[in-house]
Amino acid sequence: MTNDDARAPAPLDPETASDLLDRAREARRHSYSPYSGFPVGAALLAEDGRIFTGTNVENASYGLTTCAERTAVVKAVSEGARAFRAVAVVGPDDRAPCPPCGSCRQILHEVGAALLVVTPGEDGEPRVTPLRELLPGAFGGERLGRPPGGAA
Ligand SMILES: [Zn+2]
Repeated sequence: MTNDDARAPAPLDPETASDLLDRAREARRHSYSPYSGFPVGAALLAEDGRIFTGTNVENASYGLTTCAERTAVVKAVSEGARAFRAVAVVGPDDRAPCPPCGSCRQILHEVGAALLVVTPGEDGEPRVTPLRELLPGAFGGERLGRPPGGAA
């Protein structure tokens, strides 16, 4: 996993950002959100070009609910992906930003401090924000004496 704070995010071309938003919207269709009525979709782009999607999966206990971004991260890591470029997140409204929650910002930092976060603007077009702007001063594995990249 790449969580090297010094690395600048690689730029994301508009076509890729738009494709990621579309994939997140597609994933949102599978949302299990009977309690909040707030379906969310996410699409995580790996460095190798694979895209892992996720949706929120709610639970009657509320606290066991899993966010869409975390679903995508767990799917990706469990399938061997370790380096990521960007993640798109969409809520129920195609023309409203749906930024990752605080917990997801931390989870995303674990797999890529240099990630770019794509959300729709009020025109429905992609807005790209570096994760480091959403989670300044992040706590990462390097603070535990682990090298960036998740090496054991
Ligand atoms: Zn979240």
